[in-house]
Amino acid sequence: MTGAEADLEPPVPVPDVVSEPFWTAAASGVLALARCSDCRQWDHPPQERCRRCGGRIAFEKVSGRGTVFSFIVNRRQFVPGHPAGEVIALVELEEQQGLRLAALVDADPAEVTIGRAVVAALAPVGHSEFKAPVFRLA
Ligand SMILES: [Zn+2]
Repeated sequence: MTGAEADLEPPVPVPDVVSEPFWTAAASGVLALARCSDCRQWDHPPQERCRRCGGRIAFEKVSGRGTVFSFIVNRRQFVPGHPAGEVIALVELEEQQGLRLAALVDADPAEVTIGRAVVAALAPVGHSEFKAPVFRLA
């Protein structure tokens, strides 16, 4: 892949009626996830209704603190705007067992391990108005 291709803009999210509150909150710097208004279960990715009880969903701010559940390092560039060597992780948030978010970890791959504590920040997606969670080592 040439340097020009590596500099292309990354793909931007395409919010739908269910995910739009996530992207709106993220754009304002807040990591908010879907939570059932009835049984209080967190759910990500969001669904129209609670997976557990069918209750109504609302988005609530989360701490952004969690641990690396699993991760890979992309050894080749597969997506424009994301160079080789990035850490792509499944992070389990402290709010609830099994509440996991797929996101980049902005760290040296050699320092990332399963169970490592991380914390989220919201980072711009290329030059778009969108922001997405990116984790850093805690
Ligand atoms: Zn529920």
